[in-house]
Amino acid sequence: MRVTTAFNKMLGISGASVASVTFGPEGAVVGLRRRQRRPVCPCGWRGRGIYDRSVRRWRHLDLGAAKLFLEAEIRRLDCRRCGRVRTEEVPWARPRARHSRDFEDVVAWLAQRTDKTTITRLLRCSWEAVAAIVTRVVAEHVDDARLEGLYRIGVDEVSYRKGHRYLTVVADHDRDGAVVWVGEGKSGATLDQFFAALGPERSHLLQAASMDMHGAYARVTRARATRVRVCADPFHVIKLANTALDETRRAEWNKARRAAGITHPSWGRTRTSPAAQLVKHTRWALLKDPVTLTADQRDSLDQLRRARHVLFRAWVLKEELRDLYRLPPGRRADAHLDAWLARACRSRIPAVVALSRTLRAHRDEILAAVDLGLSNSKLEGLNSKIRLINHRGYGHHSATAVIAMIYLCCSGLTIPLPTGR
Ligand SMILES: [Zn+2]
Repeated sequence: MRVTTAFNKMLGISGASVASVTFGPEGAVVGLRRRQRRPVCPCGWRGRGIYDRSVRRWRHLDLGAAKLFLEAEIRRLDCRRCGRVRTEEVPWARPRARHSRDFEDVVAWLAQRTDKTTITRLLRCSWEAVAAIVTRVVAEHVDDARLEGLYRIGVDEVSYRKGHRYLTVVADHDRDGAVVWVGEGKSGATLDQFFAALGPERSHLLQAASMDMHGAYARVTRARATRVRVCADPFHVIKLANTALDETRRAEWNKARRAAGITHPSWGRTRTSPAAQLVKHTRWALLKDPVTLTADQRDSLDQLRRARHVLFRAWVLKEELRDLYRLPPGRRADAHLDAWLARACRSRIPAVVALSRTLRAHRDEILAAVDLGLSNSKLEGLNSKIRLINHRGYGHHSATAVIAMIYLCCSGLTIPLPTGR
């Protein structure tokens, strides 16, 4: 068997056949001959007017220990449709890429699963190459089709870079929370870009959108999608309740310490009054889901209950609010919420009274979320996924890099491996 025939069979490059194989200090260089005579512009136009020719190399998957390069003549053509000189498209590599399609697909497949350093060592390429490949592969896969057939979406902000920078993420509730859109920033203007991409017709098809209660997202959503029902995401409602409870705990702790005449912070650790002792170490007992409480935590809740402590009342109200999302069949959510709002309003616990005012202002959105059973829990998971992406070495540089990785890992992309085709 001839060497070129052997390489033809091994590499299986589409649209070209192996014309030569040479070995140099950099590795094996496989010369390709194109089957296509006329050059094709990336826009799809088949041209006659060849502008110039040059020889280009693409890094391909390794051959054992040797690096392998594909080499071919590449032409630039004077494209009439684009109105300028462009480099022709080749079947084995993406436009502007210096790595073959197979190589890039392996990088993207690995980037979904492992850290950047592992990829650079395994495939012997640079960090910059990995980042550029991820961006290119994602751009190819994330097309407009993902915005088709959107009916129920979740919108949320996620932070990256230790919480100082934000992205706005839109997910599809009907595709298991798959991310469909990511934009830089967390303002209404950011979300407006999503609606601009979606267009008026598809925006009109939206039936529900779940989000937090800050207002900017809801305002933009209502303005752009006229038929949409805005839902207050349960996660954010419970988070507000937990914040109110924690505020109450801190107020009680400070009150108890002041009552005992303790002013110096270091004294607080050693000498505490009985009133302060009751409040101390209750933080997690109050905030955790009751079914996961330890014996000690259950005990401190019990002490608060026996003392008819204000913290226990606040805790009961928090749990009753959580009940809204786990009502038995037949129980009316609106009745439950209205009764809760009335109790919270009369509680004389300042943080809880303030909470009841906020929730009353969003009563309809809260009930819409219960009615439609929508929650942004998948979107909340994104924050930890982004931490993982950062931890694995991607996305330190720019929002663009983080956004590409979110599309790659959280939008349900399947990257085909060369061995699986
Ligand atoms: Zn063109």
